[in-house]
Amino acid sequence: MAKDYGKYFNIAHIEPESHIYGPGKRFVIWLQGCSLACDGCWNKEMWSFRERRLIQREELLKAIASAQDIRGITVLGGEPLEQWANLKWLLDSLRADTALTIFLYSGYEEEELRQAGHWTWLNQTADILVLGRYIQGLRDTSHQWKGSGNQRVIHPIGSREKIGPTNCNEAEIVIGNDGQMTILGYPDAELITALQLEK
Ligand code: SF4
Repeated sequence: MAKDYGKYFNIAHIEPESHIYGPGKRFVIWLQGCSLACDGCWNKEMWSFRERRLIQREELLKAIASAQDIRGITVLGGEPLEQWANLKWLLDSLRADTALTIFLYSGYEEEELRQAGHWTWLNQTADILVLGRYIQGLRDTSHQWKGSGNQRVIHPIGSREKIGPTNCNEAEIVIGNDGQMTILGYPDAELITALQLEK
């Protein structure tokens, strides 16, 4: 359950300002690499552990710390815990030196995280956890922050975030400098069709 890139993160994507992966405006990081291979995964291009975009962990910390008016960070992927050592360093540093809240996704279940020895640390560090595999047969676009009904949204004891998810699906459309459109979140079929018609 770990991949070693030295003191570098292997990054799939960063959105410095997003509003759909947790409370408020957040710095969102998709880490590259996932061995869980959920059927129906929407991020298959993030499964490979090949180096995609390496960023030194100190540089990433600086970028987060200098982001304007964010409430916290969100880490997803890929599978964030497959880059365990650097993830732990980054989140511990943020906890120690900033007031930014921490929202972390993992495809692992609680029992697997306990067996791996990560459970206590996760509960002491994250403000909100979303756990569990994506299950295509349980896809549900009526919940905020998660894609399938089995996934659990957890506020650990001591969480600094009191806001929970609503029964409202969210998607975010980002238009890049090159005019390219990226859809983030869990868009339902109606939204996808509408956007395809707009193109
Ligand atoms: S854990 Fe997430 S990234 Fe990995 S296969 Fe499942 S849905 Fe995809």
